[in-house]
Amino acid sequence: MSNNIPENFEAMCKFSEAYAKRTGTFFCSDISVTAVVVEGLAKHKDQYGAPLCPCRHYDDKAKEVANTYWNCPCVPMRERRECHCMLFLPSGSDFAGNNQDLDMHILLDLIKS
Ligand code: SF4
Repeated sequence: MSNNIPENFEAMCKFSEAYAKRTGTFFCSDISVTAVVVEGLAKHKDQYGAPLCPCRHYDDKAKEVANTYWNCPCVPMRERRECHCMLFLPSGSDFAGNNQDLDMHILLDLIKS
């Protein structure tokens, strides 16, 4: 943990930045969307040991984690660049900003407020 940033929150921010750059995708122009998704991924990593997609309903989260299909980056993202959470957006998307970097402190403030 650094500067009071929870370990898995930091890990998911770093993963998201690296993955956006690798895939040529961008974060949402409304960064509060990004904050909520990253927080959801970090919570699942805290609770289940894997960043299960936070934008879906599961009857049994532990079972879904074991299935791996919806562990981020999920299969639709890896195969077709489809992120229904709007964490990773193609540049042509109406919702895409121009950022592939995240300020963790700003994201945390958005979640707390
Ligand atoms: Fe990750 Fe896929 Fe969920 Fe997007 S839709 S946050 S890539 S698991």
